[in-house]
Amino acid sequence: MASGYLSRLMSTPEAQPENTMEAIVSLAKRRGFVFQSSEIYGGFNGFFDYGPLGVELKKNIRDCWWNDMVRRRDDVVGIETSIIMHPKVWEASGHVAGFTDPLVDCKVSKNRYRADQLFWSPVVVDGNVVGYVSALESEKTTEELQAAAESLKRKKAIQGTLAPVVAKDFTEASAEQVSLIPSPATGNPDLTPPRSFNMMFQTNVGAMTDASSVAYLRPETAQGMFVDFKNVVDTNRVKLPFGIAQIGKSFRNEITPRNFIFRSREFEQMEMEYFIHEDADWDKCHKEWIEWCRQWLLSIGLPESHLSLYAHPKEKLAFYSRGTVDIMFKYPFGVQELWGIAARGSYDLTQHANASGKPQELFDEASKKKFVPHVIEPAVGVDRIFLAVLAAGYAEEDVTDEKGNVEKRTVLRLSPRIAPVKVAILPLLKNKEILTNRAKALYTKLKRNYAVQYDDGGAIGKRYRRQDEAGTPWCVTIDFDTIEKPGDTFTLRERDSMKQTRVTETELFALLAEQVY
Ligand code: ATP
Repeated sequence: MASGYLSRLMSTPEAQPENTMEAIVSLAKRRGFVFQSSEIYGGFNGFFDYGPLGVELKKNIRDCWWNDMVRRRDDVVGIETSIIMHPKVWEASGHVAGFTDPLVDCKVSKNRYRADQLFWSPVVVDGNVVGYVSALESEKTTEELQAAAESLKRKKAIQGTLAPVVAKDFTEASAEQVSLIPSPATGNPDLTPPRSFNMMFQTNVGAMTDASSVAYLRPETAQGMFVDFKNVVDTNRVKLPFGIAQIGKSFRNEITPRNFIFRSREFEQMEMEYFIHEDADWDKCHKEWIEWCRQWLLSIGLPESHLSLYAHPKEKLAFYSRGTVDIMFKYPFGVQELWGIAARGSYDLTQHANASGKPQELFDEASKKKFVPHVIEPAVGVDRIFLAVLAAGYAEEDVTDEKGNVEKRTVLRLSPRIAPVKVAILPLLKNKEILTNRAKALYTKLKRNYAVQYDDGGAIGKRYRRQDEAGTPWCVTIDFDTIEKPGDTFTLRERDSMKQTRVTETELFALLAEQVY
């Protein structure tokens, strides 16, 4: 899927500002990619709105995935299931009992932390524990703990050699240590022991608000595919191996939503359940899907250098899981999970068969026996891809104009596949009808198939900069040569190289057909 254009997409590290995250959040707001939800009321933590450019980018990410995952494959079909499902679905899936994160409260500040994101270390001087320090998970957790340990030693005026800190998370603290570790908010030992916090949002369905009306907003789209498995098998001519895919909103009451849209409480998932025979080579199939997902991320412009794989250690897997590999992405705040690819055995279908009393089996012609299929599940968040493409594509560069003046340009190197606007049509002068008529004719024609923008406001250089920031791969300028010289050619200006060439309308359409798919 990857095309030659992609090798030029990535922003070089030297073109990225020190604090890329701040720059991205600011660009996202300034240009209408992402806003805080309910901003005029002070915002609502963990929820976001997508503005005009953002909604196009998000739609393109979704469309590329749907086209490649569903339409262009013969073995995957799509569905769309309801966000609120029968509460028994979530009992059978294990979410009611086990979809929890360990929660820690600070009794004084009332701050809440995820125990596995709250780190601590004993402060050891000459082999003796003289106190404890804590820090929240970040790229610099260990450095922060070390600095806190040095500061504690100084404050207590203790002589001797300080041992290097050993960062552990709060779930690893004994009851005695819990009572001694300082809260990051107060600096005093004000933390509660960790307790399980269920992340599903509850609601009530119907007029009664009692225990019998409790329902949940789905925390993942995957259960829709399991619950509808038989419906899909019975109504479609699907044969193993085959997949069922879905894109949709999911909701998790995250204890600490953070890092902009990376971890939010309402987000969108793209998930696919790939059903295989119980005797199939699941390991091979798992590996093939991991590679498919990696290639897909490259095809929408993510640089290979930012991707890595993380295999979950066997001892940390759920009992039914045979293996989970995450595709990790190097975000500005650290390497984090982007896409999880799990081999889930027959756990989900078996759970639903037992809870509903409806067998979820297929008949094996060869052995004349019934069996429950096994599943490989690639699950990814649209918003995490969105943030990854902004982070990898963002750059600030010094450029020299025709007069030799150096100025800064902000550019978003988005792949043409997902860029919100594919081409900007710019008549050289706003008040020359001969130019604007030709520009409008081209704009109208392109608009039928592509997201394009017509912009006649301001100097041409300014207009190029506006489009650079929005991630538009090409600008087309209609100038006097278009009208006066034979060939009806336009200036095509490429975003990344800023190179200008002359092209005809036919050549422009051919370029778009090749690059936007
Ligand atoms: P994490 O460990 O980061 O909380 P997870 O392992 O719980 O993620 P999964 O349940 O595997 O995530 O969900 C599949 C995908 O959905 C993730 O890889 C991620 O891309 C996305 N996702 C999960 N939680 C969130 C969230 N709170 N906000 C945005 N995207 C999310």
